[in-house]
Amino acid sequence: MEFSSLSKLKVTCAPLFALVALAQLLLSLPVQGAIVWHWEEDFTELEQETLVPWLTDTHSALERFVGPLPFDVHVYMHRRDGADQPVPWANTRRNNEQALYFYVNPEFDRASFMDDWTAAHEFSHLVLPYLGSANAWFAEGFASYMQHSVMVESGAIDDAEAFRRRDLKMKKAVAALADTTVSLPENMPDLKARRSYPTFYWGGAVYFERVDAALKQQDSSLPQVLSAYLQCCRMHRPDLDALVSTLDRVSDTSLFSRELALMRITPGVPARPLGS
Ligand SMILES: [Zn+2]
Repeated sequence: MEFSSLSKLKVTCAPLFALVALAQLLLSLPVQGAIVWHWEEDFTELEQETLVPWLTDTHSALERFVGPLPFDVHVYMHRRDGADQPVPWANTRRNNEQALYFYVNPEFDRASFMDDWTAAHEFSHLVLPYLGSANAWFAEGFASYMQHSVMVESGAIDDAEAFRRRDLKMKKAVAALADTTVSLPENMPDLKARRSYPTFYWGGAVYFERVDAALKQQDSSLPQVLSAYLQCCRMHRPDLDALVSTLDRVSDTSLFSRELALMRITPGVPARPLGS
């Protein structure tokens, strides 16, 4: 009797245990989204055969680099026939969805699209939430710092080429800010008015280069912190200070807020890390 009721309990509960175990497993797995395609203009099948792998590979490369984005990415495709480059314009929009808008000249071949930084840059933006136009230096600095690493991950360029391209851009930005008496965040209205986009994009990247270098000294790295952040906290909607506090907590450091404070008081930008 006792045995039989025990075995009955086992039989009844076995599927329940299995379900609980499955639920725990699913909860421990990162939520992963997909690309949702919106062909806003007519693209031939052949053109789509170039464009789909380009963006799918870039999305996958980003996710290998920092972990899965916990949402679908809506990709809106527009034509820019006759443009002198594969992607003359692209931007992100975050209202009800995480969306990327690409304006492309589909006459370019797959290799030209893969060698272009725009997709790696735009997908990188999605790792962080929208932080407002006043903090564009932070958002653009982030996407700029990330883009060449994502291109390495997709196989488009190698590490040495990524370093070369990033270094060239950062050196120019640092030189452009050398005689400035105000910090990069304070300088933003003027830089925007003068359309000095590369200066604040790559000046902002200095923040991430410094943070990444400091994390590496502690046997961590920016992608490692971002991976933990994507899993726990990406769906929150913080302002910039709340975001850096979260990144501090996730990395178990005070680096992100300390470096932000330094960016806000240093004329131009703080020095690039040694060895850069
Ligand atoms: Zn951008």
